[in-house]
Amino acid sequence: MAFELLTISDIIDKHKGTIAIIQCHGPSANDNVNQIKKLHEENETVVFGINEWHEFENDIIPDYWVRSFPQRPSIGEDPDYYNKHTNGTIPLLSCDVVDKTTLEDAMAKLNCPYLPYDLRHFNKETCSENFNKDPDHFLPRYFTFFPDCCNRRGRLTLQEEVQKYTNYSKFFSPSTHTSAINMIAFAIIMGCTTIYITGMDLDYFTERGRYANLKEEGYIPGQAGNSWSGWRQKWILHDFNIINESAKNIGTKIINLHPNPWYKTFELGTL
Ligand SMILES: [Zn+2]
Repeated sequence: MAFELLTISDIIDKHKGTIAIIQCHGPSANDNVNQIKKLHEENETVVFGINEWHEFENDIIPDYWVRSFPQRPSIGEDPDYYNKHTNGTIPLLSCDVVDKTTLEDAMAKLNCPYLPYDLRHFNKETCSENFNKDPDHFLPRYFTFFPDCCNRRGRLTLQEEVQKYTNYSKFFSPSTHTSAINMIAFAIIMGCTTIYITGMDLDYFTERGRYANLKEEGYIPGQAGNSWSGWRQKWILHDFNIINESAKNIGTKIINLHPNPWYKTFELGTL
């Protein structure tokens, strides 16, 4: 398969009127995996996968692979990893102000569709300009993942694309404490009208454990931290509310399949 460069304008309304599945890593994903697999095989849904989707038992091979946190080596450092799991067909939607790989390097090394996007440079301004304008909702502390981050500004960010698409007054922050929100954002601008979230537990310390069932050799890099406690919960609720209200503005429904999440933003439901 060959490399193909995509931009956000290529995917706007790509799946108009369809059902999206936002597939996260938490233990509650076990409850829905078989039904989602069935719907997906019957071409009833568009599935978004994140980070280590391929490490799970009964993994559902997603239609899009979203990345927005540098857990693994960058694309430039380990292209084989990305080529293997995209299998030349799954578009890799990868935030390129988090992954330092240059476009030239990605073009040379990837053999799948690739959509690099920005999460940070609102108004085409630098990270520090944005941080100084809104330190309470931009990033919890000022940093960039690599030195030339702000040279990549100039596009509309994913958040601004959602705002443009939904005409909502606000957009969510670049530091959402869960990459799931970026999957939801893509589903919205692709025109999906019902968006189901599975496995978004946002709690590493429940009785059910940290993750949905992993394959025998399954491996998730990084360590379970306190990412979803204390002040971060307030931050998450702020961003969840914005994405949910943005969706409502155009009649798109976001439904959480978790029966009892600590965050109550999204309507609860079943498939
Ligand atoms: Zn920057």
